[in-house]
Amino acid sequence: MDLPLLRKTLDSLKLPAFRYRQIIKNYYSGRFLNFDQMTDLSLDLRQKLSKALPLLSVVEKTIIGDDSTKKALLELSDGQKIESVFMNYEDWLTACVSSQVGCPLNCSFCATGKMGLKRNLTSQEIVDQILYWNQKIYPKYIGRVVFMGMGEPFLNWENVIEAISIINSKDGLNIGARKISISTAGVVDKIKDFANLDTQINLAVSLHSADQKIRESIMPIAKQYPLSQLKNACNYYVGKTNRQLFFEYALMDINTSQNDAKLLADFISSNRLFFLNLIPLNPIGGDMLPASKDQQKIFIDYLNKFGVEYSLRRSFGQDINAACGQLATK
Ligand code: SAH
Repeated sequence: MDLPLLRKTLDSLKLPAFRYRQIIKNYYSGRFLNFDQMTDLSLDLRQKLSKALPLLSVVEKTIIGDDSTKKALLELSDGQKIESVFMNYEDWLTACVSSQVGCPLNCSFCATGKMGLKRNLTSQEIVDQILYWNQKIYPKYIGRVVFMGMGEPFLNWENVIEAISIINSKDGLNIGARKISISTAGVVDKIKDFANLDTQINLAVSLHSADQKIRESIMPIAKQYPLSQLKNACNYYVGKTNRQLFFEYALMDINTSQNDAKLLADFISSNRLFFLNLIPLNPIGGDMLPASKDQQKIFIDYLNKFGVEYSLRRSFGQDINAACGQLATK
């Protein structure tokens, strides 16, 4: 919701501050599709609010999927569109939220990167994606939030941090820090700033190669923040928080040689709190090829030989183009 506008509207009606708090409480509950349903407010006030502002800053344009994964195309007040994903996985109802319209990083394997950056999302637009899913899955609630939709969360730092404080707050969505995860392509300065916040929020880093040359060729941000700096920042994070740090590694034709496995093993073994998540590459129709079954097997055999622990993630939502890196509004 546009909170400043709500405040202004209530002020112009000369309503006391507790009304504002009451409405905010209703809003964060995610139980209401519109002001009209807030029957703890007078009919007159409900009508005035409905005229003055929309409840959510995102409006559903399209939704597809099934009980396990859904993807929604949402329109913002200026007509820009974002995608947001819902995953129902092992009893955890998870919202995968976007932090930007598009993304400036242009990783070669990611569909969002092809759009370029249109703009940052406001904190309310981020929070409203979760409230939107709460409305959809009523009477259930979203229990986990991952910043793994469109955009680079650490390049929209202030709004993302503000959104997280609302998501985490008792007066907001009241989702515990450990149930929130952020993924970054490796914005080194912000990894350090994030460590300094000293929260329990999970951090994931999109690694995709432990070879500087290869990483640069698929993730342009690696030129600005080379692997050596990235590793330092990651060590700093782990030292500061004593929390596990997750590295995402999508299995591609280009990053699964024996040498890649060796470099990756060295990287991950360099800190006992580094943890590897292998994910299949979701095809986005460019020239990036997924590793073949054989390549995957050989690569994983090497990792086993080097004693690296990892989890092999299942990919959700491929059939509806909602899987990692496939979020792009056509
Ligand atoms: N910009 C952040 C957030 C995006 S999260 C980041 O880069 O981490 C999306 C995750 O999906 C990232 O780990 C990203 O590297 C990964 N990803 C992108 N395209 C993919 C693809 N085609 N297949 C599998 N994973 C992909």
